[in-house]
Amino acid sequence: MSENIQHTIEQLRKELHQHNENYYLLDEPSISDMDFDLLLKKLQDLEAKYPEFHDDNSPTIRVGGGVTKIFPTVQHQFRMYSLDNSYDFNDLEDWEKRIIKTIDEPVEFVAELKYDGASISILYENGKLTEAVTRGDGFQGDEITANVRTISDIPLKLVGDFPERFFMRGEIYLTRKNFAKINKTREEEGFDPFMNPRNTASGSLKMQDSGEVRKRRLSSVLYQFVSAEAPAETHWDLLHKAQDWGFKISDQAKLCRNLDEIKEFINFWDTERHQLPFEIDGIVLKVNSLKQQRQLGYTAKSPRWAMAYKFKAEKVETQLQSVSYQVGRTGAITPVANLKPVLLAGTTVKRASLHNEDIIKKLDLHEQDFVFVEKGGEIIPKIVGVNTEKRSSDSKEIEYIKNCPECGTELVKIEDQAIHFCPNELHCPPQVVGRMIHYVSRKALNIENLGSETIEQLYREKLIENPADFYTLSKEQLLPLERMAEKSAQNIISGIEKSKEVAFEKVLYGIGIKHVGETVAKKLVKNFSTIDELKKASVEELCQVEDIGIKIAESISDFFSNSENILMLERLKSYGVQLEKGENTNEILSNALEGKTFLFTGKLALFTRESAEEMVEKHGGKNISAVSKNLNYLVVGEKAGSKLKKAQDIGTITILDEQQFLDLIEK
Ligand code: AMP
Ligand code: ZN
Repeated sequence: MSENIQHTIEQLRKELHQHNENYYLLDEPSISDMDFDLLLKKLQDLEAKYPEFHDDNSPTIRVGGGVTKIFPTVQHQFRMYSLDNSYDFNDLEDWEKRIIKTIDEPVEFVAELKYDGASISILYENGKLTEAVTRGDGFQGDEITANVRTISDIPLKLVGDFPERFFMRGEIYLTRKNFAKINKTREEEGFDPFMNPRNTASGSLKMQDSGEVRKRRLSSVLYQFVSAEAPAETHWDLLHKAQDWGFKISDQAKLCRNLDEIKEFINFWDTERHQLPFEIDGIVLKVNSLKQQRQLGYTAKSPRWAMAYKFKAEKVETQLQSVSYQVGRTGAITPVANLKPVLLAGTTVKRASLHNEDIIKKLDLHEQDFVFVEKGGEIIPKIVGVNTEKRSSDSKEIEYIKNCPECGTELVKIEDQAIHFCPNELHCPPQVVGRMIHYVSRKALNIENLGSETIEQLYREKLIENPADFYTLSKEQLLPLERMAEKSAQNIISGIEKSKEVAFEKVLYGIGIKHVGETVAKKLVKNFSTIDELKKASVEELCQVEDIGIKIAESISDFFSNSENILMLERLKSYGVQLEKGENTNEILSNALEGKTFLFTGKLALFTRESAEEMVEKHGGKNISAVSKNLNYLVVGEKAGSKLKKAQDIGTITILDEQQFLDLIEK
């Protein structure tokens, strides 16, 4: 029996590893996300039930969920040096001369892309990932192993003929596509977008919840094998060995025999880099022979055998024609500079983001100014300066608007963000349309065939103004719209009808309460089973819910204090939309934990925090977020800290280890 289970667990792990590889490395998923989640769930459940088959490198660990409060500092066994920089070919020629002085035999180089992300050092022992540390100051960094384990293209287990113990160094980065996705979600959830992929990647690595890190879909590339002894003579061979062991190395690295080949590589990528799916800020050159590397050694800061070549951000001058202001779905105002079209980094640029009023002031931007536009790390080109010599004496300063360009409402400025908002959430056209688009989106009510264009048309025709209006639409009203065939109209009507079956948590996400994203909506539904319970909850009660802070709590409370929102909810309810937790959303396995409250703390080894909390609920218990007299059980993992101490001080709380918790359920 137990052998059978072990076999099933191992099969599932193997299968999931393969799907991960298909998805992340090959970019060719062979099953749907939902089927993947089902398999994963099955494995999670089995692992939770049979902790004896625990494996640190199981695909469920990639799912994350472990929460780290502080990242321990770890000394680097081999210092992580920085790289010397060069900006033109003269610098490179000087570098080559210095090398030839020390080495009187032919020198080969490996030219690599300089990935713009966060560097990482990962320790592998006996073929298993055991520790991952950030660069820090080069001597010591933060241990972020749990987070790095969630990155799907970093192997947890190696294959083939690998050395017993070594470090692999590389870069963690975000592809442009995933960066854009993160920002889209952030905007949907009412958060400001991140500025650039690099900061987002390094910020993601320091998040406390590894489950959240996983959702960021970070990528990695490994470019350096580090150990006292190397199983090859050259850097090039080491890279390819690493590839055989399962590491993702760069496809673009190239062996160059002389400076001319290096220059060719640099020139090629200086223009071609804009087509890459990720950002690079230069090229890294490394002496290929490890023996020669040793002969060259290090300066106080960097290896003499390596050199970074930094690309210049391309900069052009053009004229400002006007400044316009866009109103986002959340009401955030983005000033945009309209420019005389100009060619920059391979594309024609007509507009540049000005971000906010402070930036316009800092630039001291005037009407019709000649400006310098640059394409740097950010996706959208930006104005980096003004050519004041060309400014005409009578040109006026750009004055920031006071009122919303869409609805005329006076704007408010959020001080610590420097951003202006239109506060007219319920009647400002882009915000109204945005809310309805959000309501029908896939992760919310998932009303297929109802695209943003249709919603805009319906809004213009005054047929809809808030999500409740969808349910009064008739086919006859849809048919006169542009490009609306009988069949699509019918599909829309059926889609709307079907949305009445969508679970409460998705509806709660869909109605667009500021700061209530998918995860928060789920947590709320776990604690409040009907919209009316949620409506009645005080800010203090809301704050009791795990992961809900004062900002979210106040936003929820504001939402329910608005009579128009209440009316919309009443209408949704009357049309049959789910505003209560359905019976099947929480499958009950037993009532072993009925009436008992639980909290998990420390580093859990047998199950993730999420699956533990789910177990509590499936067995009739309740999760709470803080240690108080109301807590019955505190389940502690490794290195439990202040919560454990507080629970001991209170004295009435039963303290369990993970196994004892499982025993409670399995009795
Ligand atoms: P810098 O931060 O300018 O001193 O440049 C050094 C950094 O470049 C390293 O810490 C790495 O994070 C990064 N880097 C990106 N790509 C590579 C690469 N192919 N080889 C070495 N370092 C790289
Ligand atoms: Zn407005």
